[in-house]
Amino acid sequence: MRIHQYLEINDNKKIKCLKCGHVLCDAKENYKDYAPRAEKDPASLPGIRPTMGMHVYYEYYCPNCYTMLDVEVAEKGAPPLWDIQINMENYVEDTTASVSDKS
Ligand SMILES: [Zn+2]
Repeated sequence: MRIHQYLEINDNKKIKCLKCGHVLCDAKENYKDYAPRAEKDPASLPGIRPTMGMHVYYEYYCPNCYTMLDVEVAEKGAPPLWDIQINMENYVEDTTASVSDKS
C-alpha cells in the first residue's frame, strides 16, 4: 500500500522507502520520527514571502538513500507533524467486512 510519493507499507506492516527499500518504522508509528530533518529558513528560499513569522521549512529524508520524503511548514522547534496515521486494525476490519458482504 503506497502512502506517499516514496513511501509504502509493506506486507509486514512496516513503512518502507520505495527508492532503496529501507524500513523506517512500524506502520503505526510516525515515520518522521525516524527520518533526518533539515531546517530551512523561508527567508533563505527564493520566491517565499517573508511573512511567516517564526515558521520554518522542515525537509525529511530517508536515512539510507537521502531521498527527500516530505516537506512541511511548521513553527520553529515544533515536533514533526504526524500527517499519515494508519489504523491497521480498522484497515483489516474493513477488508473482512467487504469480503463477507459478497458471500
Ligand atoms: Zn531510501
